[in-house]
Amino acid sequence: MIRHVEEIIKQPAAHWVGNGFRVSQYFPRRRPAHFFDRISPFILLDYNARVLFKGTQSLVGVGPHPHRGFETVTFAFEGKVAHHDNQGNQGVIGPGDLQWMSAGAGILHKEYHEADYAKEDRIFHMIQLWVNLPAKDKMTEPRYQPITKEEVTKRPFLGGQILIYAGIVLGEKGPAKTFSPMNIYKVELDSGATLSLEEPAHHNLALLVIEGQVSLNDDLLDNGDFALMKNEKGSFTLEGKAPSSQVFVLSGEPLNEPVIAGGPFVMNTEEELRQAYDDYNSGGFGSHDF
Ligand code: MN
Repeated sequence: MIRHVEEIIKQPAAHWVGNGFRVSQYFPRRRPAHFFDRISPFILLDYNARVLFKGTQSLVGVGPHPHRGFETVTFAFEGKVAHHDNQGNQGVIGPGDLQWMSAGAGILHKEYHEADYAKEDRIFHMIQLWVNLPAKDKMTEPRYQPITKEEVTKRPFLGGQILIYAGIVLGEKGPAKTFSPMNIYKVELDSGATLSLEEPAHHNLALLVIEGQVSLNDDLLDNGDFALMKNEKGSFTLEGKAPSSQVFVLSGEPLNEPVIAGGPFVMNTEEELRQAYDDYNSGGFGSHDF
C-alpha cells in the first residue's frame, strides 16, 4: 500500500525575520486556518534556504522576544546560531546541531548569528519549527534541550542515512524529549538510492526537500518543495535524483485541540491569548535585559 501525496507546496517567497533570518514560511502563512488540523502538532515552518551573508561586526538576528504555549526548534545545517534566554540557558549550535526550546508558561529569548562567525562572509542554512504543546502542558516550566550532531541518532541504509532527531524511525530512537508523539528526521540519499518508510496512518505527515532533488512516490521534488501526505496507511518511497539530496520529515500525532495563535503566543482559547499578552505587557515574563 502506498501513502499518497495530498498537496505539493512550492517554496514561498522569502521574508526577513529580524536582520539575520531570511525565511520561506510554508505554514501557517497564507494557508487556511484549518491547515492547523492537517499539520498538528506542528504550527509553523520557517525555512532559511542557503543565503550568503556578508561579514559584519553588528549583531545579526532577532533581539529579546517572548513565547508561550509551544516549542521552538532550530535546526542548523550550515552556519552558527547563538541562543540566550532569560531562564539562564544559552548555547551555540553549528552544522548538524539543533536546539529544542520549550517555552511552556513563558520565556524571553534572543537568537543571533554567532558573533565570530558573523564577522566572515558565510552561508547560512537552517530551519525553525514551532511545535505545539498539548493543552495540559501549555503552562509547563520552560525547558531547553541542546542536541549536538554527535547526539543525533544515525540509521544508515544502502546509499544514505537517516538522522533521527525525535521519535522512532526503523526501530531507532532520536534524542529529543517531546510532549506528544512525533517523529522528526532527515533522510540523506545519494543519486539512485531508495528508501521506503511507513508512518502511523493517523499521524500528520509532511516532507521538505532541503538539498538536491528526489522522487517521492511518482512526484519529482526539487530543493524547496514541500509535500503534505494524505492520512492513510501505507509507505512512501524516496529516491535520490541528484548526487546528494536531503529531505526533512515531520510526522506527528494530531493534538485535536483548538489553536488560537497571536504573534509569539499559541494557546487554546481567546481568553488564554489575552492573558498571555496581559502577562507579557505587565512584565510577567521578566526583564528584557539578559
Ligand atoms: Mn523566538
